[in-house]
Amino acid sequence: MTGDELELRRMLCSTSLGYTAYHVWAQQARKERRYNIARLLEASSNVKRIRAERAFRALGEVGTTAKNIARALAGLEPDTVATGPVTGTSAISRELMSRAARALADNRDLRADELGDLYVCGSCGEMMEGTPPTVCRVCGTVVEGFLPFRAAEAMGTMGPHSIVWHLERAEILIRALVERLPDDMLARRPVSGHSIKELLGHLTDMDVVFRERAWLILETDEPELSLAHPPTLAKASVYQNVPLNELLNNFHASRTQTLALLRGLTSAAWHRTGRHAVQGTIPLLHQGNWVVSHERAHMVEMAQLRHDMLAGDAQFAPAGLPIQLVPEILEGE
Ligand SMILES: [Zn+2]
Repeated sequence: MTGDELELRRMLCSTSLGYTAYHVWAQQARKERRYNIARLLEASSNVKRIRAERAFRALGEVGTTAKNIARALAGLEPDTVATGPVTGTSAISRELMSRAARALADNRDLRADELGDLYVCGSCGEMMEGTPPTVCRVCGTVVEGFLPFRAAEAMGTMGPHSIVWHLERAEILIRALVERLPDDMLARRPVSGHSIKELLGHLTDMDVVFRERAWLILETDEPELSLAHPPTLAKASVYQNVPLNELLNNFHASRTQTLALLRGLTSAAWHRTGRHAVQGTIPLLHQGNWVVSHERAHMVEMAQLRHDMLAGDAQFAPAGLPIQLVPEILEGE
């Protein structure tokens, strides 16, 4: 192995591990509602991914698809090499991570005024904060080739059509998920987690919060959005004793109002903004992405609960979730 090749192998190994580490840490930060820190970690994971891909190509590991499939079948066997540290390896990365560490020491997320929009050069993986230059100062790639990690898109990049489509489909999916489940299963809590009834009541709570914020953004100029946390799942235990029909009716009533507010909005209306002290100036689209991704995660949780309960119950074993519903829940990633 030549010195160059050894360095590329070291690079590939280091960046692949760094990519995985940052990506999983970003998922964890989102779970902890540290959305700006999650954005920083996701941008960092993309820096590593782009550099890993460059090293992989430079090593001659990419051929025609026919060759790649043949190699995949043969079993690509990497040479592992000692890597040294795989994260926090650049000055900007250390600076941004230090900011995150200080915020976390105060038990909070980074505020929007503490972490600007981030951009990662799609060719060389250079990370930039704030208004991006017209070309990458390292490799000359134009700004159009940068990957954006903007505060306004921190919750996802779905457009109005997709958001409304997901909000419309949710009720059909939820009804399919609870279909034919007896009351004791609907209220059964997994070892750590919440029952289907709690999750359903929680989804209605969140729909109400979303609609109130959407209304403020649409009807007032640059409203200050409340920092108060939306109702958490911990408060959903009250729904354990509410009949399923009432929970479904509440969801239906709330969602009907939400859709009435959103249907037919112009693109300009979706780009109206509110001020949030942590998340910054965010458009209605940001909140729409937030509610859809939140809902999807809980519907997957409900589908898993349903599956696990029915799989363990011979009487219901044939009544699994109709298979065609699953891709709809997962669609739109
Ligand atoms: Zn570059």
